[in-house]
Amino acid sequence: MIQAINHIGIAVKNIEESKALYKKIFNVEHFHEEIVQEQKVIVASFKVGEVMIELTAPTDEQSPIANFLAKRGEGIHHIAFACDSIHNDLQKLGEQGIQLIHNVPTQGAHDMLIGFLHPKSTGGVLMELCQHNSELIRE
Ligand code: ZN
Repeated sequence: MIQAINHIGIAVKNIEESKALYKKIFNVEHFHEEIVQEQKVIVASFKVGEVMIELTAPTDEQSPIANFLAKRGEGIHHIAFACDSIHNDLQKLGEQGIQLIHNVPTQGAHDMLIGFLHPKSTGGVLMELCQHNSELIRE
């Protein structure tokens, strides 16, 4: 079940330039930085209240973020929702006719499993489900 907004993903070209900009706007002192090999991205994140902002730049031309930047430019990329049973939640949405980008969750940043829903079946919004690895229910 979807429980909360976990983060907002923002596609950026240059992680250092974007960090400087966000530092200015939000007075950020520290970014959590991580390379996610599966997505070929570097992520710099910080929290605004309970919600994380994830600045995401491609590390490779094959990255999905590189495609997005080429088509749409910088901007909001996706909204990520924390859920309590990511395998079941993705499966249920698939059964309800929502097109999934990941039928099975994949590794994301912050030691979370993630799965994307296709924007074609969500009214144009790229949505991500995520769940921290430590919260997975062992079935
Ligand atoms: Zn995300």
